[in-house]
Amino acid sequence: MELKGKNVLILGLARSGIAAAIELINLGAKVTASDMKSKGELKDIAALESKGAQLVFGEHPLSLLNGCDLIVLSPGVPSDINILDEARKRDIPIISELELGFWFAKAPIIAVTGTNGKTTTTTLIGEIFKNEGKNITLAGNIGIPLVREVEKAEAKDFLIVEVSSFQLENIMHFKPKISVILNISEDHLNRHKTFENYIETKARIFENQTEEDYAVLNYDDPIVRSFIKRIKAKTMFFSQKEELSRGIYVKNGVIVIRENGKIYPLLKAEELGIKGSHNLENALAAACVAWICRINLNNVAETLKDFHGVEHRLEFVAEIGQVKFINDSKATNPHSAQKAIEALNEPIVLIAGGYDKKSDYTDFIRAFSGKVKKLILIGDTADVIEDAAKKQGFYDIQKTDSLQQAVKLAYSAATPGDVVLLSPACASWDMFESFEERGRIFKEAVYSLKT
Ligand code: ADP
Repeated sequence: MELKGKNVLILGLARSGIAAAIELINLGAKVTASDMKSKGELKDIAALESKGAQLVFGEHPLSLLNGCDLIVLSPGVPSDINILDEARKRDIPIISELELGFWFAKAPIIAVTGTNGKTTTTTLIGEIFKNEGKNITLAGNIGIPLVREVEKAEAKDFLIVEVSSFQLENIMHFKPKISVILNISEDHLNRHKTFENYIETKARIFENQTEEDYAVLNYDDPIVRSFIKRIKAKTMFFSQKEELSRGIYVKNGVIVIRENGKIYPLLKAEELGIKGSHNLENALAAACVAWICRINLNNVAETLKDFHGVEHRLEFVAEIGQVKFINDSKATNPHSAQKAIEALNEPIVLIAGGYDKKSDYTDFIRAFSGKVKKLILIGDTADVIEDAAKKQGFYDIQKTDSLQQAVKLAYSAATPGDVVLLSPACASWDMFESFEERGRIFKEAVYSLKT
């Protein structure tokens, strides 16, 4: 679509909405932007005002649709609000910032999605490519709008993009050169309503791919594995559990690649810098991408050894009185918190609870299996998680109002050799601005124990 002179409406003025607005103004579009928040609640909008965007705060009036040629929807804005229903009736195209970014991409896109592990895998792929001397640009759900970064990548470079279901909801032509689907478990049901809708939204990552593209799929996840029937791109599987006739898997503790009947060893699984079976999954996915792009295997192995993960993901914070503190604030759903528990070998005092996404906590609590000795709950979901835990016979629970207090309680409950783990199983928005803020406050509370 030629954007010069077009009337474009941006809904949602967080990071990606602002980036989209600026890009569109630079391209000569007439931009109106609207957010349900008041002007005072929004950050970084001065640049938009000075560039001449029309801004509407506190509401999305239907009059915004008059003369509108295109809507760019931010991931935080639900797709079923009134103004969007009306826009659909008027046949006004609605796209995500991801789609807009794709329109300007010259470099091939490697897109990573999944319920959990996206940021870790995206970052790891980036590290592998950098260590091979490739020019890469990281973008997407990782917190860097694609539309802002896209110009930096030339045709010979790579755009490595973390993609969320919210962004995939409103794509049109988005067509990654390589798509990666790590896993799918229930999440964001408050937004997608049913698990089936969520699965279908994730599947959109490969809907525009063709035979010259690639899809990397987790063989061990039955939903992801079943996608193979619907994918036109060439596929490559990875597995922790099965020996594959073609793909990447673990044989006698060694990560190997098998293609055309030949087996190429990469490194021992225990040599990975990131720990836990969930991180093995992420590493296998990244190795598939590296293999497809013909990255030197020694370089891949070296990066996999050296990469120790991303902040707020099973991040070691400190050891005080022989008690280790681990920050896994990014565990924003029960499945990811379950993986964190499974990744640790020590007895755990667990701090959990947060914003209510209507998740089911049954499997998360089942994963305690003698390893979690005490549960400290904070946030909106404290009562729900407490009930779920009691139903499964777990009673050593304390509830408190602040994360700082939770850290103190956890430390007094822990004995030498234990781990205090913040892995909330919930989003952070009930008490914090973001999971990053929650993680930082946890770390500060831990450091203050030292004094
Ligand atoms: P995302 O970007 O998808 O939220 P992250 O890489 O930020 O994923 O990891 C978020 C949390 O999910 C981590 O703290 C970890 O506990 C858990 N996790 C990471 N990778 C996986 C995986 N492959 N499967 C399940 N849980 C995972």
